Amino acid sequence: MNNKSDKVSIVVFIDALGWEVLRNRRFLEEELPFRSKLRSVLGFSSACVPSILTGNQPRDHGHWSFFYHTRERSPFRPLRLLRWLPRGMTDRGRVRNWISKVVKRAYGFQGYFQLYNMPFKLIDRFDYCEKRDLFRPGGMNKGKSIFDHLEGSGVSFHCSDWRQPEDTNLESLQDSLVKGEISFAFLYLASMDGLLHQVGKSSKQVDDKLAWYEHRLRKLMALAREHYSEVRLFVCSDHGMATVEQTVDIGSKVDALGLHEGRDFVATYDSTMARFWFYSDTARQRISTLLSNMPEGRILTDKELQALGCDFDNQQYGELIFLLDAGVIIVPSHMGTQPITGMHGYHPDHPDSDASLLSNVPPPVRSECITDVFHLMRAEAGA
Ligand SMILES: [Zn+2]
Repeated sequence: MNNKSDKVSIVVFIDALGWEVLRNRRFLEEELPFRSKLRSVLGFSSACVPSILTGNQPRDHGHWSFFYHTRERSPFRPLRLLRWLPRGMTDRGRVRNWISKVVKRAYGFQGYFQLYNMPFKLIDRFDYCEKRDLFRPGGMNKGKSIFDHLEGSGVSFHCSDWRQPEDTNLESLQDSLVKGEISFAFLYLASMDGLLHQVGKSSKQVDDKLAWYEHRLRKLMALAREHYSEVRLFVCSDHGMATVEQTVDIGSKVDALGLHEGRDFVATYDSTMARFWFYSDTARQRISTLLSNMPEGRILTDKELQALGCDFDNQQYGELIFLLDAGVIIVPSHMGTQPITGMHGYHPDHPDSDASLLSNVPPPVRSECITDVFHLMRAEAGA
C-alpha cells in the first residue's frame, strides 16, 4: 500500500443519465460537487456516443440512426427472402434477435447490431451504420476517437466491454485498479437507459437504480484511493429521457396516400423521427404536404439540420426528416410495435434531451456539450 501509483482518471458513462433525470435527486452530491448540464446532439445513442468519443457532430463522425438507404449493394439482400415467411413468425422479438445474431456473425459486424422491427420487404434498400466496435481504435466511420488517441499515445488505459453487464464491467475495472498500472479508464454502464424507457424518469425504480450506482461508485472510488494518490472521477451521459404522452402512426398515414413504397419512395420510422428518400417528385410533394399538416412534429429544414450538425453528405440519413415533438413517439415504428413510457431522440433544445457531467474535481476543459467530454478525456489521459 505504500507504493501508490500517481494518478488515475476514471470516466464513467451512464447511458441516459439526463440532467432532468437527476433533478430533485441527490445522486453523489457530496462526492461529485462539480455538476453541469451538457447539451446533447440530435439522434439516438448511436449518434450521441460517437459524439462523446470523437468530439464531433454527427455529420463529421458519420454515425446517426442505425439504418440508412443505399442505392448500392445492400448487405441485407439475402434477408429479403424472409418476407415470404408469415409475419406472425418473423415479427416475434425472439426470432428477430436470432436473425440479428446470424446476420451479425455472417458479416463480421463488431458493433451493436439489432434488426429491430425493420420490415424484410425492403430491407435490401438499406445499410447499417455501426458495423465496427465504437469502443476500439478504428471504430468510427470518419475520423478518430478517444480510443485511437489513447492507443497512439501509449497511455495505459482500461475500457469496459460494452457487451458485458454492468456488474462485470465494474469488477473488471476494479481488477485493473488494484494492479495500479492504468492512468485512465472508461467505464461503460448502460442499463439505466432500458429502465428509463420502461418506467419513465419519475419512477421509484429509478431512485433504486441510482442508489445502486451510488453504492458501487463509492466502493470503486474507495478502492481506487487505496492504490492511487489522486483519483479523478467523472460521470457523464449521452442524453436524457422524456416521458411519452402520445403516439402517432405515421406509417399508416403515409400508406393511405396510395403511393408505392419501394417504387415511389422508401422510409424508415425511428421512434422519434420519420426519414424518407424519394424516387419521384409526386411522392416528395405528397409526403411533404402530409407531414407539414401534422401537429405532432415538423420537417427539419436544411438550415436547421446544418445547425444541428446533421447535414450529412448526399443526405445519407434521409432526404426529408420529420422530427416529433418531445413526448410523442411513432407507434408502430421500425424500432418497436408497442408504446413505451420513456423516449429520447428529440430536439437538443428540449430540456429532457440534456445530458449531465458530474465530477469530484473541476473539469479540465469547458464543458457545455456532450462533445466536450472528448476533450476532457484527452486532457485527463494526456492523449
Ligand atoms: Zn435509449
